Amino acid sequence: MPPFYELIAETSHHWELLEDLSGRTEYCSPSCLALTGFGPDHFLGQTDVLPRLAHATSRHEMEAFLAGLRNGPLNEHRCLELRIVVEDGLSRWVVCHARRVASAEGPSFLRATLRDISRRKALDLELSSSRLKDPITGLYNRAWCMEHLERQLERKHNGGHFTVAVVDIDRLKKVNDTLGPAYGDDIIRMAAERIASTIVQPDSAARISGDGFALIFQNKSPREVIKHIKHIQTIMSAPFALRGHEVTITASAGIVTSHMPGEKPEELLRNANIALRRAKANHHHRYKVFHTRMFEESSRLMEIEIDLTSGLRHGEFFLVYQPIVCLETKRLTSLEALLRWKHPRHGLMQPDEFLPVAEATDFIVPLGEWVLRQACTDMVALLAEHPELDKLSMSVNISARQLAQHDISETVAVVLRETGMDATRLKLEITETVAMEDPALTAQRLHIIRALGVRISIDDFGTGYSSLSSLQNFPIDTIKVDKSFVGRMDSSAGQRKIVRSVISLAHSLNLDVVAEGIELREQWAMLKVLDCQNGQGFLFSHPVEVDVLRAFIDKQKPPVRP
Ligand code: C2E
Ligand code: MG
Ligand code: MG
Repeated sequence: MPPFYELIAETSHHWELLEDLSGRTEYCSPSCLALTGFGPDHFLGQTDVLPRLAHATSRHEMEAFLAGLRNGPLNEHRCLELRIVVEDGLSRWVVCHARRVASAEGPSFLRATLRDISRRKALDLELSSSRLKDPITGLYNRAWCMEHLERQLERKHNGGHFTVAVVDIDRLKKVNDTLGPAYGDDIIRMAAERIASTIVQPDSAARISGDGFALIFQNKSPREVIKHIKHIQTIMSAPFALRGHEVTITASAGIVTSHMPGEKPEELLRNANIALRRAKANHHHRYKVFHTRMFEESSRLMEIEIDLTSGLRHGEFFLVYQPIVCLETKRLTSLEALLRWKHPRHGLMQPDEFLPVAEATDFIVPLGEWVLRQACTDMVALLAEHPELDKLSMSVNISARQLAQHDISETVAVVLRETGMDATRLKLEITETVAMEDPALTAQRLHIIRALGVRISIDDFGTGYSSLSSLQNFPIDTIKVDKSFVGRMDSSAGQRKIVRSVISLAHSLNLDVVAEGIELREQWAMLKVLDCQNGQGFLFSHPVEVDVLRAFIDKQKPPVRP
């Protein structure tokens, strides 16, 4: 070797190695001492130095690497990161760059350069573990959860089973809104601690969204998982002490077992979330176990949710009107606007099929405004054609979400102004259950609406277990007796008694009464005896489109005397 080549090799910071193709070490630079703790004499003349130095976890890879070099093309550069075991028995990470080179004399050798990368590896490891940790709670994060579920799904093919529970803190948004986001973070941190205190390996917990955690249970029966979730719900309900505030929260959970269909982590979490949404909608059992039917139902609901927006844009909604008549004279006193949807694929849809979705997604707010506007527009047109209907009013149903809008009275006022509808002819119907959900807010909203001149009806009265006197704080004009009572009054003396007392109580409070769902002449006759003024039902008319309604009105006109 010319002297300066030797000088370069002998003073290199990296470990320079030259082996013949049988694996015998021909040259070894002194820097091996710094890297391995052994001097060059330890390696010179030895065979298979690198595979023997490789850590057990890297040995197989090293052998394949060397075989590739020996059998591969001349001068092709290859590189491998591996762990080696050094003199003190500890391990170190090195990167090995190597190629097969030909000497001037003919035979070829393997030339390898090894460099210590332990520091970089340690940093990498730290980084990758922080990449998988949630900074607020110290639990694993969503990325980890997805990788872990991926591994669990692989294990499932070898007979292992697991269960995923998604646990969600209810109403965290309310804490954020009222106390500020810092308090929200505190709650999440404390809730995570409470959850983590229940988890024992090999089960695990991760924070997968703002207020959501995923718990992964190994080989546990659904019964055991449910017991665990109930325990978490109990310890979550103990008050949290937050810088002078005491906050109480609840948690809901959706559970999915690995026996259910779902081959991807995303599918498992989606199914657990479907169950979670169900749990949240049910106030009594705040956990639900996913089953396939839930997915089918939720797909249909999701489809409806998507179609609602385009339905409103494309004019697929329309109103039918059901006459409300004076029971004594059978003359028309009012109309109730009822919503229908001509769905492009499902055909005609009734409100109970799509209103719950519209309410859950707040779509009821623009939809309800459309109903109000359309009903007022139709009413104004109808009155222009029939000036003799000078007492006719229009009833429009209003849902809880609409009433919760702070600008509901402005919306009503704008619609009245824009359609030219007389406020005193409009009646808004709210169900008893909606009214009693937040009585103070309901009363406040209704007073403002009432001040516009609009009248208020309590719909489906009798279904919500509230007494008439509890409705006294609301500025109401009319009570609508629910059709379930009317429907049974001809066969049950008890039901008849209830209807009678509702009517007389309403009269004593100066309220009008409308009986809903009158289908039989007997019911009509009994209601008249009980002094109920107004009624609606299939006996008089089904809800009908405007054109049919015109015919109904024409029939009511007294015959013109010659
Ligand atoms: P509701 O306000 O109590 O309306 C009366 C319901 O009873 C209507 O059902 C009507 O078709 C039905 N009905 C009328 N007469 C009879 C009868 O003699 N026998 C029987 N069995 N049923 C009768 P519909 O149209 O399916 O509406 C159901 C509910 O959906 C309504 O109950 C109301 O709560 C809600 N709804 C309908 N349209 C709207 C709307 O535009 N906005 C809101 N928020 N809710 C609406
Ligand atoms: Mg109604
Ligand atoms: Mg009703």
